[in-house]
Amino acid sequence: MSEKIFEIFEKKLEKLRQTHLYRSVKDTESREGMKITINGQKFINFASNDYLGLSQHPFLKKAAIEAIKIFGIGGGASRLLSGGVMLHKKLEELLCRFKNSQSSLVLNSGYTANISLIPVLAQENDIIFSDELNHASIIDGCRLSRAQKIIYRHADLEDLQKLIKNSACRGNKIIVTDTVFSMDGDIAPVKELYEICKREGALLYLDDAHGTGVLGNGFGALKHFDLNPEEFIIQMGTFSKAIGSFGAFVCGSSTLIDWFINSARGFIFSTALPASIIASSYASLKIIMEDNTLIEKLWQNTVKLREIINNLGLKTTNTQTPIIPILFEDIESAIKASEVLQYFNIYAPVIRPPTVKIPRIRLTITASHSLEDIERLEEALKKL
Ligand SMILES: *Cc1c(COP(=O)(O)O)cnc(C)c1O
Repeated sequence: MSEKIFEIFEKKLEKLRQTHLYRSVKDTESREGMKITINGQKFINFASNDYLGLSQHPFLKKAAIEAIKIFGIGGGASRLLSGGVMLHKKLEELLCRFKNSQSSLVLNSGYTANISLIPVLAQENDIIFSDELNHASIIDGCRLSRAQKIIYRHADLEDLQKLIKNSACRGNKIIVTDTVFSMDGDIAPVKELYEICKREGALLYLDDAHGTGVLGNGFGALKHFDLNPEEFIIQMGTFSKAIGSFGAFVCGSSTLIDWFINSARGFIFSTALPASIIASSYASLKIIMEDNTLIEKLWQNTVKLREIINNLGLKTTNTQTPIIPILFEDIESAIKASEVLQYFNIYAPVIRPPTVKIPRIRLTITASHSLEDIERLEEALKKL
């Protein structure tokens, strides 16, 4: 019985290998800024979401070490039992200031947040309108919800409005979107979505995973668009990308956060994040709120790399952020290009279907990249 099952898996894996869709894990042996070592080879990392390089900041490391000395390692239980420490509360208070919101809640990861919050936000009789390029965790969150799901064409407001008009809804309407699309690097039309939600009495759920620490001088997408955190807006974000730590958060009205505490299964039934991680996230938010040196550096580097890509005539997306993909006709040419980059010690793996429709090398530029790093990348890109 089980042998048969493993045969089936082995066949599926073989098919993935043959079609170049097979994935494997590559762990780094060392890390120093964006310099990494994999299998003994040194690389400059252009595949990290650590946009500000904060994951290695001494202030974050110190905060984690201090927290370990006081609280030890594991949380030992969920927040509702005894897993939370005062640092959780402190971080949530800081988040309210960061997002100018009534209330906030820390969750264990961005993935957990989306699959836990969306199903309790959108219930039977409700309709979720979801952008077709939303992150997999949003898609999974929608799948777990009893609401009706309607997918609108990517960032297409006309399509969205048509779909809203043609849908009969007895309950609430909820529009769900990434603020920055993780594989294309473009920014969602949040201002227009805000207007639509206001007019329709709908909720707006924003996944600001790639906007936090990057857009709006670090404060995220709402700040970028100069919008107020109205009651109908739910701001979810992560500590795992530009914040350089781990975990996620949601900001919104007190009632909503209270509802999440009482219903979101990924919050109720999972052990609280360790104190060290919470302390690092807190330290990182403080840096982002008080000092924009790193954010300015990030955007300078972003402009530089975008210019290089355009000057070389490489095919990219409508990117407006440090996520800068190079698009290819087929996986084979993307793999070949990735190998050329590897030869130049540039680490930027291929993103393949089904993660994306068009195969690509997804470059991410960070504040930690030096001018020499970028020049080295340019040299390599010239060979493509
Ligand atoms: C990375 C990402 C997530 C998942 O966050 P993790 O903290 O890594 O689990 C969710 N949404 C979007 C848009 C992301 O890019």
